[in-house]
Amino acid sequence: MKEPGILDNRVALVTGASRGIGRAVAIRLAAMGAFVYVNYLSNEEAARETLEAVERIGGRGAPAPFDVAQTESVRHATTKILKEQSSLDILVNNAGMTMNALVLRTGEADWDALMNTNLKGTFNCCRAVLRGMLRRRWGRIVNMVSVVAEGGNAGQACYGASKAGVLGFTRSLAKEVGSRNICVNAVAPGFIETDMTTELDGKNRRRILEQVPLGRMGNPGDVAAAVAFLVSPDAEYITGQVIRVNGGLYM
Ligand code: NAP
Repeated sequence: MKEPGILDNRVALVTGASRGIGRAVAIRLAAMGAFVYVNYLSNEEAARETLEAVERIGGRGAPAPFDVAQTESVRHATTKILKEQSSLDILVNNAGMTMNALVLRTGEADWDALMNTNLKGTFNCCRAVLRGMLRRRWGRIVNMVSVVAEGGNAGQACYGASKAGVLGFTRSLAKEVGSRNICVNAVAPGFIETDMTTELDGKNRRRILEQVPLGRMGNPGDVAAAVAFLVSPDAEYITGQVIRVNGGLYM
């Protein structure tokens, strides 16, 4: 249900909000009163379902299809949003792809695709919204990283590098724009039930769960709750931090 309007009059852009964690974040921010732009790459049907869920709880939003890796597309889409709205206050850089492959089996094109989506995509979106946030002296940016950025995982060196890059970017950007009341934080999920983790077979799933003190995989709502906190007034003195939502997998 819609919560009291903590984010009334705020406009949010959630990248990768057609499915999984991004969808849960979009619904949560809409429930808090924000107008939410639901970004996606190609899955229009899923994005529509996110927006239907937003409307069911009395929230407001609109689709925003673009590829975060394409600098021009990001610029075009954010310019359009800023023509429709007087501001873009909250950016959640959630769009991402994963790659499970040993380094020796990873080609240059795979590396480039991963970095372009996860790392350059985050840079592209931040750059597109920062000017307005600086002018208004208010902004909240939340970057989705991963437990792998800090703890590492065999077979995910390239994915881990992309997310560790986003973490480093988060901390330096937080220092760069803090004086203008723009908070930049990261959320680092562990293993969350989404399309990204459905390919885990029973054996791998059991192996992972043995290392999770809370004994279960997380759900997208667990991650959305951390994002909701970071963009709420309760977190207005928090910047440059990482909140780990991983059931204790990495401490
Ligand atoms: P997911 O279910 O695979 O969904 C990915 C989302 O990103 C979709 O909405 C997809 O759009 C969008 N997307 C992918 N590439 C894009 C691009 N180039 N431009 C715009 N949108 C793009 O992913 P998830 O599991 O929810 O993960 C969300 C974030 O959390 C990712 O950054 C991921 O690395 C991170 N994370 C996830 C887990 C986990 O266990 N699931 C753990 C740690 C971190 P379409 O629907 O159009 O394809």
